[in-house]
Amino acid sequence: MADVKDLTIIGGGPAGLTAALYAARARLSTLVLEQGLPGGQMATTDEVANYPGFPDAVSGAELSDLMRRQAEEFGAELELSEVERVAQEGDEFVLATTGGERRSRTVIIASGATHRKLGVPGEDHLQGRGVSYCATCDGAFFRDQHVFVVGGGDTAVQEGTFLTRFASRVTVIHRRDQLRATKVLQEKAFANPKVDFVWDSVVEEVLGDQVVNGVRVRNVKTGETRALPGEGVFVFVGILPNTTFLHGFVDLDASGYVVTDAELRTSRPGVFAAGDVRATPLRQVATAVGDGAMAAVLAEHWLEERS
Ligand SMILES: Cc1cc2nc3c(=O)[nH]c(=O)nc-3n(C[C@H](O)[C@H](O)[C@H](O)COP(=O)(O)OP(=O)(O)OC[C@H]3O[C@@H](n4cnc5c(N)ncnc54)[C@H](O)[C@@H]3O)c2cc1C
Repeated sequence: MADVKDLTIIGGGPAGLTAALYAARARLSTLVLEQGLPGGQMATTDEVANYPGFPDAVSGAELSDLMRRQAEEFGAELELSEVERVAQEGDEFVLATTGGERRSRTVIIASGATHRKLGVPGEDHLQGRGVSYCATCDGAFFRDQHVFVVGGGDTAVQEGTFLTRFASRVTVIHRRDQLRATKVLQEKAFANPKVDFVWDSVVEEVLGDQVVNGVRVRNVKTGETRALPGEGVFVFVGILPNTTFLHGFVDLDASGYVVTDAELRTSRPGVFAAGDVRATPLRQVATAVGDGAMAAVLAEHWLEERS
């Protein structure tokens, strides 16, 4: 008979790894299915400066590694495969993955989110040739060059400031006349002589043939367009939930996020959701780990009630 886990967690970001830690400590047989890099989005940031316990900040890669090790030390299994579909057969959930079929008595969806694209000409064609969505991964390629950061939220401002370690100049292009980012991040960026701003503007096109050589921006107030020369474009304009494989399985909101109640239950009994994938007002490492812990404990209670 196929091995049936007590709990299978889809996604090995901070939400999934924390759920795995709590579930493994509760002695549930626990499997984490991760399609890419354990740590998720957190693994792609240079510095997590607002996670409690690390007053001097911690690198995203290091925190990811610590969370993975802690979950594995208590017995959670981590498997590198992508979940393509989830279905229910009687009391069991059946997960179709790139590594084969997996069966489980409960499921936590912790598949997080992925960067949103600009959707403008040149973006896809020049991805990896000057267009990037990850400053930690690609920043060092832009030593002494002029790069653009598109966006005005926490991630844009934080990653823009990080890019000044390499780039000679970082121009933040934002569609409004003020940033959305947390004040402390704004102050840091405004005080950095390498950072400047193009306000009220959107990128209409990424310019370049083989590599990026600039962007064409349009001022949303005046309608004026102009080309700005530069070598890199880092896009931080929000995130999209990783839920395409869940359509028809659990209820999603209009933006595609998984709908849960206060106890992180989805519309399908026995299936919980945690972290950025959930319809929630704040998406951070701290909220993801809180969700992960709660979802694991509630999954455990759900199993107990049925044993
Ligand atoms: C550049 C950047 C900087 C950030 N900086 C900070 C910061 O300083 N402080 C802070 O608190 N937050 C920060 N965040 C946000 C924080 O990283 C996220 O809120 C957090 O990682 C969410 O955790 P999660 O586990 O819910 O989802 P994710 O981190 O998105 O992890 C989800 C995981 O699920 C996997 N997955 C998705 N679909 C499947 C599938 N079908 N099968 C298998 N696996 C799947 C993904 O590969 C991923 O590893 C930052 C984010 C970015 C992108």
